[in-house]
Amino acid sequence: MNKSDRQLGMDRSITRRDFLDGVRIAIGGAIATSVLPGLDLVAETAEPFAQDQPGYYPPALTGMRGSTDGSYEAAHALRDGDFWKKAGQPKRIDEVYDLIVVGGGLSGLAAAYFYRRQNPSARILILENHDDFGGHAKRNEFRPGGRLLLANGGTWAIESPFPYSKEAAGLMADLQIDPAALAEKCDVKDAYKNLQSAYFFDKETFGSDKFVPGGPGRRNRNGGGNLSDFVQKTPLSENARRDFLRLNETIVDFFPGLSSDEKKDRLSRISYKDYLLKVVKVDPGVVPVYQVQTQGLYGVGIDAVSALDCWVLRSPGFAGLNLAPGPHPRMGFTARGFATPKPDYEFHYPDGNASIARMLVRVLIRGSIGGKTAEDIVTAKTDYSKLDQPSSMVRIRLNSTVVHARHAGDVGSAREVEVSYSREGKLYSVRGKGVVMACWNTVIPYVCPELPQTQKDALLYGTKVPLVYTSVAIKNWKAFEKLGVYHVSCPGMYHTHVSLDNAVTIGDYKAPVSPEEPILVRLTKTPCAPGLPEREQHKVGRAELLVTPFETFERKLRDQLYRVLGAGGFDSARDIDAITVNRWPHGYAYEYNPLFDPDWPPGQSPCEIGRKPFGRITIANADAAAAAYTDQAMDQAYRAVQELARVPA
Ligand SMILES: Cc1cc2nc3c(=O)[nH]c(=O)nc-3n(C[C@H](O)[C@H](O)[C@H](O)COP(=O)(O)OP(=O)(O)OC[C@H]3O[C@@H](n4cnc5c(N)ncnc54)[C@H](O)[C@@H]3O)c2cc1C
Repeated sequence: MNKSDRQLGMDRSITRRDFLDGVRIAIGGAIATSVLPGLDLVAETAEPFAQDQPGYYPPALTGMRGSTDGSYEAAHALRDGDFWKKAGQPKRIDEVYDLIVVGGGLSGLAAAYFYRRQNPSARILILENHDDFGGHAKRNEFRPGGRLLLANGGTWAIESPFPYSKEAAGLMADLQIDPAALAEKCDVKDAYKNLQSAYFFDKETFGSDKFVPGGPGRRNRNGGGNLSDFVQKTPLSENARRDFLRLNETIVDFFPGLSSDEKKDRLSRISYKDYLLKVVKVDPGVVPVYQVQTQGLYGVGIDAVSALDCWVLRSPGFAGLNLAPGPHPRMGFTARGFATPKPDYEFHYPDGNASIARMLVRVLIRGSIGGKTAEDIVTAKTDYSKLDQPSSMVRIRLNSTVVHARHAGDVGSAREVEVSYSREGKLYSVRGKGVVMACWNTVIPYVCPELPQTQKDALLYGTKVPLVYTSVAIKNWKAFEKLGVYHVSCPGMYHTHVSLDNAVTIGDYKAPVSPEEPILVRLTKTPCAPGLPEREQHKVGRAELLVTPFETFERKLRDQLYRVLGAGGFDSARDIDAITVNRWPHGYAYEYNPLFDPDWPPGQSPCEIGRKPFGRITIANADAAAAAYTDQAMDQAYRAVQELARVPA
């Protein structure tokens, strides 16, 4: 280990538990290797599965989370055509369900909920390949100094550019979730009242390390302060500083003579980067300041996001165009067409929308999670051993990758679908009268090879957005207080944003409000490859994520926190208590990008073709809406359940 590693604390023992109180989650290499001869019919899966063992509690695991090792190997082998070479025959379990749901994310849980509301005596099995339910809505727990701190491993908040539909809003109301009321009551509004946003310009990108308070961006509560003061402190060249200010102050109409709609159309066909360079004609040195500002939302930088999308995000350079408020028709079919006014749904539970997932599980499986309100859910503990009980009408089976879903007979007349799944090294099959595929679109063609080729092609069109949400438990936040910041944009660094977690006090959960208290720092990273079309960038980013070990994330973030917060006294070796890297190689649903995707006629977009029902198999999940939002995942679940209801019994 070199000196700098020691200074950064790479040799320090931090909370990094890969074992659950001694219970090894033996799901690595989940490809079935022990082959049972023929089709064994057994009454129950009597094996001692990990989730049924005492001490099984995945939210408390730290280290590499998100898409964990052991969750994806079977699916990748299936994709590569290797799975069935080794898998052998499944062990057939004598279980027949009214509904089998593939995928235990918010869409799958919502599908189970909607189905049961219509069919109260239905028996439902949810199969999920990860060690926890919730999908992207994942809960991370930390206990620095014995105090419970929660983070969202993925899905951050109840928010959407769409107004919630009757069905999604109804589900939220059934769960007694009123986001506006919760935000009003639980957000600790003055927690960081004296703190602002800042930028950190790194030497590798900008020539020297420079911490500069203020600056542009929606995080800045005071509008970024005085931008002239800000830019003078940056390491940008004279020309770049001048053009940065010109960009932020311009009221030039760059498209005189065009109507608002014509201008929007033109803006939808040019990247924001090109708009800056070719229309506003800024010095190229301005671009790196803005390059990553779209990554958190779209997974790519401004080279691959339209200028129109950036106008929606209130980026500078459009003040003189006099654009009419509201979306442009080209944006109408995706989340990029922000509704105006934006719906007022926005609330961040301390564990993000994992609280919604947990509330759904609480109503689906009695006794699995305590409490009964939208507030007490936050500290209620899940009893994982209750999730897959034979006596329960709804069962959630974790660490189970579905590898095959096939009608038992002709698609038009079959009464059942046989579903095979790989679990902890073995292969099983169960049967369902209906199946909702609430997993990812790209998985479905491999799991359901009977689908028509056009539908398979449509399902494979989108490429999910790779993302990393890292949470670092630190012993106190005195360095943030001293520097006067709660959020730092780091446009050139490994993680592009560093911020204190939102302060939310809800039920028995208390937000840290004193700088002396331990807190979670959130860091985000969006691996991509600027210059390529969006879907190609996501593929490159995904490949990078899958080969990057935890140690690399740890070293990079220790170095970054030391450089960004060091002037405030932060010591990465001393102050870090625990680290969780939520790696999402398959993150947000792909949303159609006006720069790269055609204007499909209604009904012809890939998500619409891909989500067509197929016999007793219907398709939910956020990919089916091409929109990465919780309400969309719920809406798709509702549609998929209605489609099943139309299948003759
Ligand atoms: C980092 C991140 C942040 C986000 N933030 C927000 C936010 O703030 N607000 C918001 O509204 N949305 C947010 N989203 C979008 C989020 O994806 C949706 O809101 C919603 O949670 C998607 O639910 P889903 O059930 O469709 O998909 P998922 O949550 O992905 O669930 C699908 C599940 O199916 C499983 N699966 C896949 N294949 C198989 C198989 N073969 N067998 C068994 N299981 C399988 C997957 O592992 C996964 O657990 C975020 C997403 C990410 C990645």
